[in-house]
Amino acid sequence: MITSSSVEEASLVAEARDSALICTQGHVITRWMAYSPHGDRRFCEECGSPTLSSCPSCGAPIPSDAGNYAYRPPRFCRACGAPYPWTEAAIAAAHAYADTLHRLSRQERELLKGAITDLVRDDAGRQGAALRYRALVAKAGGAAWDVFHDILVNVVSEAIRRSLYGA
Ligand SMILES: [Zn+2]
Ligand SMILES: [Zn+2]
Repeated sequence: MITSSSVEEASLVAEARDSALICTQGHVITRWMAYSPHGDRRFCEECGSPTLSSCPSCGAPIPSDAGNYAYRPPRFCRACGAPYPWTEAAIAAAHAYADTLHRLSRQERELLKGAITDLVRDDAGRQGAALRYRALVAKAGGAAWDVFHDILVNVVSEAIRRSLYGA
């Protein structure tokens, strides 16, 4: 007999199967939590951060079907739109680094930080954001291009990754 609670349980199991387990810095522990021997890891082996399998804002499972062969952690929760912790961490790290770029004026540093946020959000203004980003990072010079690449490469969309970094 199928009761409503067994239906609920079945759907909870199905959701658990679909969850990825990811640390708050964005290291993927496993894409298929329920089937993985690592599905019970509470902390990340790479960086020691806590792991999560659901959105901290709304509790929806973290989808395991984002991307295809090269699984990348989703950037935003598709149930509530909140950025995941690794997305917030990358934006914060990029902003903090931007503040150290003293070849840029204070105003330019603020422009660069806005462009970075726009690029990660991939909103309608991304063409302009990409242009500002390129120009300001070029002006900052030194290691800036590489440092920003490493911080941002996993938290921008496929299209922006290709257009900025060619891969
Ligand atoms: Zn980690
Ligand atoms: Zn959510």
